[in-house]
Amino acid sequence: MSKLELSFFDLGLNKNILKALSDLGYVKPFFIQEKCIPYLLNGHDVLGLAQTGSGKTAAFILPLLQNINPTLCFPQVLILAPTRELSMQLRDVCLNFSKYIQGVNVVSLHGGQSYNIQFRSLKKGPQIVVGTPGRLLDHLNRATLTLLKLHSVVIDEADEMLRMGFIEDVRSIIFKAPKNRQTALFSATFPKEIRSIARQFMNHPKEIYLDNEKISTTIKQDYWVVSGGFHKNDALVRFLEVEIFDAAIVFVRTKGATIEVSDMLEKNGYNSAALNGDMNQVMRQQTLERLKSGQLDILIATDVAARGLDVDRVTLVINYDAPVNFLSYIHRIGRTGRAGRIGRSLLFIRHSEYRLLRYIKKSVNLNISKVQIPSLLVLINSRLTKFSAQVEHVLANSTDLDKYRVLLYKIKPQNNFDMETLAAILLKMAQGGRSLVLSADQGQQHIESEFKNNSKIHHGRFSLTGPRGSNKECSSLSRRSTSRNRSMDLYRIDLGRDDGLSVRHIVGAIANECDISSRHIGHIRMFSSYSIVELSKGIPSSTLLHFSKVRVLNKTMNIKLLERVDKDICV
Ligand code: AMP
Repeated sequence: MSKLELSFFDLGLNKNILKALSDLGYVKPFFIQEKCIPYLLNGHDVLGLAQTGSGKTAAFILPLLQNINPTLCFPQVLILAPTRELSMQLRDVCLNFSKYIQGVNVVSLHGGQSYNIQFRSLKKGPQIVVGTPGRLLDHLNRATLTLLKLHSVVIDEADEMLRMGFIEDVRSIIFKAPKNRQTALFSATFPKEIRSIARQFMNHPKEIYLDNEKISTTIKQDYWVVSGGFHKNDALVRFLEVEIFDAAIVFVRTKGATIEVSDMLEKNGYNSAALNGDMNQVMRQQTLERLKSGQLDILIATDVAARGLDVDRVTLVINYDAPVNFLSYIHRIGRTGRAGRIGRSLLFIRHSEYRLLRYIKKSVNLNISKVQIPSLLVLINSRLTKFSAQVEHVLANSTDLDKYRVLLYKIKPQNNFDMETLAAILLKMAQGGRSLVLSADQGQQHIESEFKNNSKIHHGRFSLTGPRGSNKECSSLSRRSTSRNRSMDLYRIDLGRDDGLSVRHIVGAIANECDISSRHIGHIRMFSSYSIVELSKGIPSSTLLHFSKVRVLNKTMNIKLLERVDKDICV
């Protein structure tokens, strides 16, 4: 909000629009709305640097809506959107804002919908046409849409159009609009291709740059460096366990990963689903509805699939895979903290991706703080706090506890133990698989079981040594150690099967290069990109230092202590 505290009325909007805004709960204009609305109302071209979440949609729809003549039934405003979801969303926003204006007709022309439906809508003479470039061009070529009397064109999310390869279609469409039209362009960044479009098609545009700090202050942003031998899946499970959130979006890079990570979370008891470009529109809408209604708590999404996603319940965004650039980061975190609400984002970043982190911090002038992975102690406390909250909730909402008290005495006489013991048993039963008591050893097993899940996810087979192992090399090693052993520590090696590594390479390198007898080497588990090895405790520090330099198959093994199995943490 600007220091002048302008209202929508001050911006020159008429009473029908003000009434609709008040119904929608829009009290004060956002920064971009304050700047854009007067210019667009007065017929200027506007070039806006704005991300989703900034309120840019209302910034262009409100003034252009006010300027149309609803008694004339032909396209007067054209809005270009990169995705069909955004196109439909923009149509709905136009309809919401125009609900008190008689005769306004809006259509969305997007792919994935039958032409017949769109032909019928176009015959009604919509004043506002929203659409994706491909479908709009189709209609223009078929002459089912004409732009001859258009007075305003909006290019929304222009850099996304560029990224998706639509920019030439955008040019072709604008060429078909009258020369004296008004043009508005919104983009989260201004690469040179977008600047060139602006130069080519805009008439002395008023440039509006968003006050980044204003958006970002409502989103608390942290990052965790992928290290310490923790796989991202372990970290995700731990962070989700301690974060307080309503709904969350976890961003990954590939479609396959949306499914893998979603499966992994389901196995860990979370209500999660994948959202990716392979889903048809119906499935996608259904998934989003489930998220909105609270039937689903976590979405695992790719950037493209989550574009324009606007769900108030999303209070947490986790960048499981780092975004490709700072723009993608801004879009991702913009899925939370909507409309000035508080949001939280967490970025998992590898050492090799540090440059990107520095660039994001610098480009958007954001404060992104480093956090550590939640320790076992933090996990335990979190579980206890959640359990206590559940107990309080049941206490506050139950009127029939007396009936249960009677039952307690019915259980007890048959067994010879006191009420405290009975409470402890019930507590343990209530927790199911998620124990409230974690020793460091159990914590290790917790990690291991997650590793096991990961390896299943990534390779369909877990190459555990010992009785369950199926790999010959592994079973020959199982004689050394057949179960998790408190005299061993776990180490991580930064190389795995995909590097061409096999168990004999690991044993050879550790035994020969580090001069460690093979009897000190326990279980070895191999995954696609890393391996876990058990080594006896008490390895001298000089050897540990040497570990970081050991090379195999011409690559550094980077052996690091994963977690020491020495002290119990109890509550
Ligand atoms: P946008 O950046 O246009 O996608 O808008 C982000 C969110 O802010 C949407 O959920 C809008 O409904 C909401 N919004 C936009 N402007 C205002 C406003 N002035 N007051 C309250 N909510 C708003």
